[in-house]
Amino acid sequence: MNAQSLMPIPGHIDPVPVPRAATPRNDGRVDLIGLPKAEIRAALESAGMELKQAKLRAKQLWHWIYNRGATDFTAMTDIAKTMHPWLTEHFVIGRPEVMEAHVSTDGTRKWLLRSDDGQDYEMVFIPDADRGTLCVSSQIGCTLNCRFCNTGTMRLVRNLTAGEIVGQVMLARDALGEWPSQPEGRLLTNIVMMGMGEPLYNFENVRDALKLVMDGDGLALSKRRITLSTSGVVPMMARAGAEIGVNLAVSLHAVTKEVRDEIVPINRKYGIEELLEACAKYPGANNARRITFEYVMLKDKNDSDDDARELVRLLKKYKLPAKVNLIPFNPWPGAVYECSDPARIARFSDIVFKAGISAPVRSPRGRDIMAACGQLKSNSEKKSRAELDRLAEEKQAALG
Ligand code: SAH
Ligand code: SF4
Repeated sequence: MNAQSLMPIPGHIDPVPVPRAATPRNDGRVDLIGLPKAEIRAALESAGMELKQAKLRAKQLWHWIYNRGATDFTAMTDIAKTMHPWLTEHFVIGRPEVMEAHVSTDGTRKWLLRSDDGQDYEMVFIPDADRGTLCVSSQIGCTLNCRFCNTGTMRLVRNLTAGEIVGQVMLARDALGEWPSQPEGRLLTNIVMMGMGEPLYNFENVRDALKLVMDGDGLALSKRRITLSTSGVVPMMARAGAEIGVNLAVSLHAVTKEVRDEIVPINRKYGIEELLEACAKYPGANNARRITFEYVMLKDKNDSDDDARELVRLLKKYKLPAKVNLIPFNPWPGAVYECSDPARIARFSDIVFKAGISAPVRSPRGRDIMAACGQLKSNSEKKSRAELDRLAEEKQAALG
């Protein structure tokens, strides 16, 4: 079955054990979403189908699921009608449940989704004139706690499964009416792994999900249109390049140890120089495919002229094919930072740009529905055993 990541997940900066496996479905059926062809075949076999038949059916099912977007076995016209009830009895083609859907005044859409085991997470779609970008979550919450990020204030509940990750893309396709997968005229053209969570702490599931997204016979989105953003999990970066191969974005946000230690605490474990060295070795990065360095603009924290010059020096020192993305800080309740003034951001951008590195300012999208970078947060939290016991007792008492 779909193996859950066995990697330790760091809390703050050091590993803490957290439950990773999603709870199996109550009805005992197997959800085929997230499974590659070989695993669909194995699932059919373990439900009692013989090998040769299972091979053929797995191929057909895979095509219906990932290319046609089918969620119902009865729609599968090349599979004998007599087989539909058996498939329905053993399997389901699931989607995340939509709890809430919001539309911003700028057209950005945010969905609050719920997993089979009742955990909430978010996904955002950002339409532009020439493209549409889906911002996908990789975890429910995040164990890291960058000080400017709302998601970081959640306690990690768990990793999302490969099915839940690719399920977000499939749900967006449903909502946009974009089945079957078509090469031209799509609304959903790009994917960024920039929702809730640190994708490189859920490596296997993110990789398996993105493989399904990139498969030319499946969702068929090119790796050049997919970007994975990491806060700097250095030991996983080479594998990400080799095994996923999508565009890389790095949440740099500061140029001195002191400031980065404070605002991106993983820096205490993997420092700036180590991170930039890993970037220089990232497979597939070149002038045509640059690495994006994300830099959140925090007033009086990381936004001085000296910071801009130091940023340029570092990127040049490591000869990085780089572009810089300046992100105006998006506020959220309880945040301790303020966004830099527009004039300051413009000046910072100018210094970097004059040194020959592109440094556009990202225009905030979906702030009114709390859908902008770093604003995502759901109510899910990991309850301790004691809390669960207390809730059970309270419920019992209420029932009398
Ligand atoms: N965990 C990954 C990807 C998700 S966050 C990472 O950290 O890279 C996507 C981007 O939004 C990151 O660059 C993150 O640092 C940035 N971000 C987080 N909080 C923000 C905020 N309040 N305002 C602006 N950008 C923020
Ligand atoms: Fe996690 Fe990224 Fe937010 Fe940091 S910025 S807390 S790594 S989601």
